[in-house]
Amino acid sequence: MRRFALPLLLLFGTLLVSTGLFFHAREQGLTQIRQSAEVSLGRYIINLRHQLARHRDLPKLLAEQQQLKDLLNDPASPQKTDAANHYLAWVNDTMGATDSYLIDSNGITLAASNWNGPSPFVGNDYRFRPYFQQAMEGGQGRYFALGNTSRVRGYFFSSPVWQNDQVIGVTVIKVDLEDIEGSWNDPLQDILVMDEDGVIFISTRHNWRFRLLPKPGEQTSPSQLLSRIEASRRYENTILKPLPLQHRETTAEGEQLLTLGGMDAAGHYLLVSKLLPEAGMQVAVLANLLPLKAHITRTLTAGLAIFWTLAALLLFLRARHGMKQRHERELQLAHEALERRVEQRTRQLTKSNQRLQREVELHHQTQNQLVQAAKMAVLGQLSAGINHELNQPLTAIRQFADNGRKLLERGRHEAVESNLQEISGLAERMAAILQPLREFARKRDASSAQTQLAQLRRGTMVLLGVELEKQHAHLHWPEQWDDISVTGDPGRLEQVLVNLISNALQAMTGTTAPRIDVNVTIGDEHVTLAVRDYGPGLCEQALAHVFEPFFTTKSTGLGLGLSISHRIAESLGGELTAANHPLGGAVFTLVLNRADKEPA
Ligand code: ADP
Repeated sequence: MRRFALPLLLLFGTLLVSTGLFFHAREQGLTQIRQSAEVSLGRYIINLRHQLARHRDLPKLLAEQQQLKDLLNDPASPQKTDAANHYLAWVNDTMGATDSYLIDSNGITLAASNWNGPSPFVGNDYRFRPYFQQAMEGGQGRYFALGNTSRVRGYFFSSPVWQNDQVIGVTVIKVDLEDIEGSWNDPLQDILVMDEDGVIFISTRHNWRFRLLPKPGEQTSPSQLLSRIEASRRYENTILKPLPLQHRETTAEGEQLLTLGGMDAAGHYLLVSKLLPEAGMQVAVLANLLPLKAHITRTLTAGLAIFWTLAALLLFLRARHGMKQRHERELQLAHEALERRVEQRTRQLTKSNQRLQREVELHHQTQNQLVQAAKMAVLGQLSAGINHELNQPLTAIRQFADNGRKLLERGRHEAVESNLQEISGLAERMAAILQPLREFARKRDASSAQTQLAQLRRGTMVLLGVELEKQHAHLHWPEQWDDISVTGDPGRLEQVLVNLISNALQAMTGTTAPRIDVNVTIGDEHVTLAVRDYGPGLCEQALAHVFEPFFTTKSTGLGLGLSISHRIAESLGGELTAANHPLGGAVFTLVLNRADKEPA
């Protein structure tokens, strides 16, 4: 049903618009035609009235002329007739009338302007003419008719010639109205001049002349009317016929719409007419309604074109609106889908984040386990080292003890004494091996103790003084930073420095003037002590394993000094690193926390 709604609406709209436009255009077109016809009619009437007015009073003037009266009094006189003829010809020429003549009281023409023309009126009997009768009764006659001699249509003005209160004759002026027809050249409008009965005697269309167009509401039938007119001999022997009127309609505005058939002028016409009572005629303009059709077609075409353009525009706008709405809906849907996807993705991300956290925790646990395992490995390493280191002296002690027992049995007391000394030495050696291991057993705590650099320097010098002197070694340790304090107790810090410096001395054994530099760098939070020697430096293997317990390149070394020092530095929140100096020699860098300043 909805599918047909729009076409039906358009069809209905088209019909409505067409009907409205048709009536509007018809009305408008008719008004235009009527107005144009009225203008033409007015112009024609002015022209006609002007023509008639020029000659209207001429018969009256002629009636006063003595020459004409003289002739009426003495009609037989050739001189008077001649004088009257000449006079009438002169007046006729001067005034531009068609004919001027004088009729006696019996209706016989005595003198005429055309007395020497091809068909002069002189001698003609005009008794039957209404204009003669009107004048004889003392009135001013006016009448149009077909000239019975000339057969030229004309308008007649007549006037009585008075003498001693008696009408002794009649003067007549005839005006030819045919020239108006010739000058008319509007193909869509025709001028009709009709008499009181409706007989067209002037028409711009030749074949409409002497046709009868009865007045609207005329009771008498056309045939009766025609026979009466014929009796008046107004149009002489001309055969009068009714106009082939097929339809006649009077509009609300009072104009008449005529439909003519038959002749070449078949068609629809608008008749605009005006009665000229003073001239006894009715003047009409018959306007062809052909332009009306064209006007209606034009208006309908233009109107429908506009209607369809507007309808198309409306449909277009509606479609565009629909499209926009659809587009917005799609956009909304896409937006919602996107939001859903974002939500879904967020959920997935949250999940994977949680999983990652769990994995990190797991990792942590694993790391702890690994650290534990590493610790166990170190323990194993350590145990192996201790086992290896202590086995030798223990075996030796057992041998010395066994030997001592045998020597005792044999009573060799001095030898036993020597063996016991060896045993004691070996025990001492074992104690020396075990002594540094106590460091491993010590609790790892970041001690809050602190040591001034001056104290550290002095303590180290006390412990190494003899050795340095023995080797003629020079220790360069600047005193300018003596006020600065570092974290850590003096005992352990001295142990680290003694270890580093004695390693350096050992590395330079045999050198004539060994030299050791302790470079001190003070930072905001840290104090760095770099111990540099001028020995052979660290070999590749030493660089990789120097801080591992029991790593040593020395025949008598234990390989524990640096691993313990490293451990002490770490337990104090610092670090110990080893490197070779670019100019030769090893550099051990000890970084410690500054104690006299709160870390930022
Ligand atoms: P030990 O002195 O008992 O060997 P350490 O842990 O103190 O044990 O030293 C481990 C090893 O590091 C030494 O055997 C030596 O090879 C190397 N080393 C330490 N200090 C220096 C140094 N200043 N120059 C060269 N080698 C060094």
